[in-house]
This record gives sequence, structure tokens and C-alpha cells, in this order.
Amino acid sequence: AHEVVFVGRSNVGKSTLLREITGHSFDTGGKPGVTREPNHYDWSAHDFVVTDLPGFGFMSGVEADRREAIKDDIVAYLEEYADNFLAAVLVVDGKSAVDIIDRHTTEDEIPYDVEMFHFLRELGVPTVVAVNKMDKVDDRDERLDDLCDRLGLYPPWQQWQDVVAPITAKQGRIEALNEALRDHLHAQNHDEL
Ligand code: GDP
Repeated sequence: AHEVVFVGRSNVGKSTLLREITGHSFDTGGKPGVTREPNHYDWSAHDFVVTDLPGFGFMSGVEADRREAIKDDIVAYLEEYADNFLAAVLVVDGKSAVDIIDRHTTEDEIPYDVEMFHFLRELGVPTVVAVNKMDKVDDRDERLDDLCDRLGLYPPWQQWQDVVAPITAKQGRIEALNEALRDHLHAQNHDEL
């Protein structure tokens, strides 16, 4: 069990973050919806394998059927390998996540990000939400409080720093994610001893 799995909607900056973390080059801004298979990489700084799952949600030029199929594949992979995961990282776009969540919240629809967050937690996987593109966010505390609220985490966000990690992957500002993950990985190592 040395796998850290990364999920997120398309265009949230997951490839940028993974490039920052692993040193591998990733197809950033590439054709969305093309990568269907999970990809595995070494996380050089730690002794982990990083798994990149395909981006999900709306992708321009990708049909609804195919988007659903991608999401089903992701869910199937997570269910099958949940026991192997040390942690999961759900990457969201800090600038747009709350608006997208609110737009998709109806009586019979749960937004992807919220659904994925609860699904991972139900699987028993320690989950960190990497709130990316914080360089574009002016009202930082308010945004993060709103996001916590939508995820069912009682604000203020500062109480959830092991779950909510504001980052700017493009500038290599990912300390909060490293910290949050360290908490989870450290806690589990202790369990094993
Ligand atoms: P992916 O589809 O989730 O893998 O997203 P990419 O890594 O391809 O990034 C999508 C776009 O967001 C690209 O134009 C990136 O340069 C940009 N991006 C990624 N991280 C950041 C960030 O921290 N801040 C800003 N402003 N843009 C970012």
C-alpha cells in the first residue's frame, strides 16, 4: 500500500501539479478525454507511487456518453484498489470550484467534485482536496470557507488543513499539500508500527 491517487475535473491543473511532484513531464493542456488508463509514476521525494487518473467532468469536444464512461472507469478503479491507497488527492480549481458546484447542485444532482470527495471518504481513503490556482483567487479565506461548506466540512477552513490544501501548482507553491499528505502518511505509518 504505497499508492497516492490523483483525481480531478479536466483543466484544474492536475498535470501541472503532478509534473511538479514527480519531475516527469506531463501532457498539460493536451487533448482532453484521451487518457483513459491510470498512469503510475514514482514520487521521488517519498517512497510512493503516484497514480494519475483521467480528468472527469465537462470537456469541450467530448461527448456526454464518453464523459460518463470515463467517470465509470475512475469509480471502478477506485473501488477495486481502495485498499492500496495511502491517500487520495482531489484536485479542484480554487477560482471556479464553488461556482461549478453550486451550478450543478439540484434536487437530484450531486456535483462531481462533491460526489467524488464523499465517495473516496466512504471507501475509507484519506482524502486531501488540493485547491489549485490560488494565485487567481482574491478572497482567499471566503473562497476556502465556501468550499468547505459545499464539501460538508464546517468552516472555518483553517480547521481542515489536513483535508483542504490551497496551492498554486504553476508556481510550485504546493507546501500545503505536502503538509496535509505528510499528516495522513505519518498517521498511517504509526498505525503500522
Ligand atoms: P489538467 O487538465 O487538470 O491536467 O490541467 P493542466 O495541468 O493541463 O492545466 C490546465 C491549465 O491550468 C493550464 O493552462 C495550466 O497552465 C493552468 N494552471 C495549472 N496550475 C495553475 C495554477 O496554479 N495557477 C494558474 N493560474 N493556472 C494554472
